[in-house]
Amino acid sequence: MHMTKKTVYLGLGANLESPILQLRAARRAIGEIEGVDEMAFSSLYRSPPMGPQNQPDYVNAVMQIATCLPALDLLSTLQKIENAQGRVRLERWGARTLDIDILLYGEEDIDLPTLTVPHLGMTMRAFVLYPLFELSPELVINGHALVDFVHACPLNGLERLAREF
Ligand code: ATP
Ligand code: MG
Ligand code: MG
Repeated sequence: MHMTKKTVYLGLGANLESPILQLRAARRAIGEIEGVDEMAFSSLYRSPPMGPQNQPDYVNAVMQIATCLPALDLLSTLQKIENAQGRVRLERWGARTLDIDILLYGEEDIDLPTLTVPHLGMTMRAFVLYPLFELSPELVINGHALVDFVHACPLNGLERLAREF
């Protein structure tokens, strides 16, 4: 049976328990999901926390994959990876070992109780837009060029980490 693969972009973030190691482990775990191929991984970025300010800075990255998994199956598999890496949900936007959000799933618009794609808020978050632009500068989101969202979004303290990190 022919399975069409979708190009999917994932937003990763961590700010507890060695965030860089968390992102490396997540990248490996995502690449090992049956039906997922890694296509690209952005630089690592450091960003100040969104929401509650009494938490460490985040390390963020964007990963591009190709997958034949349906979006909800992908979501539940990613949540298992979050949980396996010790994700605990306390307060909204609180500190976490690992967050994996589905930013884009092919060209699809998804509006389900548990899944909104394009990810809500992604077009206003520097820590999503800049790494995404690094991977795919030609993308169009909600009918608007990614580059326009990037130009409209201040860095808000976002820093690209040097390669040796
Ligand atoms: P934000 O989504 O604003 O970045 P968050 O990542 O901290 O916040 P989570 O606690 O990781 O939020 O997820 C809360 C719920 O969001 C999940 O249980 C999931 O069902 C839902 N959700 C909706 N759309 C998406 C998406 N595109 N990617 C991941 N989760 C999503
Ligand atoms: Mg998130
Ligand atoms: Mg999330």
